[in-house]
Amino acid sequence: MAYDYDTGNIFAKILRGEIPNDTVLETEHSLAFNDIGPQAPVHVLVIPKGPYVNWDHFITGASAEEIADYARAIHAVVGKLGLEPGEGGQGYRLIMNAGEAGVQEVPHLHAHILSGRPLGKLVA
Ligand code: C5P
Repeated sequence: MAYDYDTGNIFAKILRGEIPNDTVLETEHSLAFNDIGPQAPVHVLVIPKGPYVNWDHFITGASAEEIADYARAIHAVVGKLGLEPGEGGQGYRLIMNAGEAGVQEVPHLHAHILSGRPLGKLVA
């Protein structure tokens, strides 16, 4: 599947420093920042720095180094915020919306990390 990456999307602008963000954590290939419209007390977005539209684009097009960095960045945010489930950590929900059915608004891959309140059962 070929994806056209829109370099004008809002997260591309954040990565270029054209728009400010509330950074939680940055790695060589990934950036995590607080969502501007939080849906829960904890709502962090984790994005790869590379130009990937969605998870499917990323996992088929990114290097092993980028993929490992991204997976570890998500885990590092969870650790930094004390969200690991078990042993007192409150846990979290990890969501990636993709395409129309997923109602993805920003066409740059992002994982939502949500926590800080009971999130209820996940239903469509
Ligand atoms: O998964 P989806 O594409 O719908 O999510 C986009 C997310 O990006 C929203 O939660 C929105 O609040 C967030 N956003 C942001 N900063 C912006 C624009 C959108 O955190 N400048």
